[in-house]
Amino acid sequence: MDCIFCKIIAGEIPSYKVYEDDNVFAFLDIAPVNVGHTLVIPKKHYENMEDISEEELCNLARVVKRIGKSIKEGLGVKGYNININNKEVAGQIVPHLHFHIIPREEGDGLKLWSQGKYNEGEAEKAVNKIKI
Ligand code: AMP
Ligand code: ZN
Repeated sequence: MDCIFCKIIAGEIPSYKVYEDDNVFAFLDIAPVNVGHTLVIPKKHYENMEDISEEELCNLARVVKRIGKSIKEGLGVKGYNININNKEVAGQIVPHLHFHIIPREEGDGLKLWSQGKYNEGEAEKAVNKIKI
């Protein structure tokens, strides 16, 4: 499969490895938002959150938690963002599921999303479509 992250796992493309076990691989993002920006991926190729099982996702999330702590303590930052882009419309460029862990510094200039407000009746309609 012609997947850049599968090639990184296989060692065909170099990376700065942060963590590896039987199922999970983590490495520095080549174009970091901030120094230490890390990507955590399953070794099995899944395109996005829809494709991975809940159990495997939980396993991945456990590693994300550990690396978040290591980033915070190792780099001495106060916090970090954890993000997954699912599908192109949401900004996913590499179609191999990955968590971004982005260390944050006071005043680093990273802007997250802008927020709006609901029109009359819109929240009720939305919740009825979404709720499980
Ligand atoms: P996304 O937009 O969520 O698909 O993010 C893909 C991320 O992969 C981007 O932040 C890229 O900088 C990163 N990336 C692409 N190629 C490489 C590479 N060879 N090594 C490390 N990170 C990469
Ligand atoms: Zn892949």
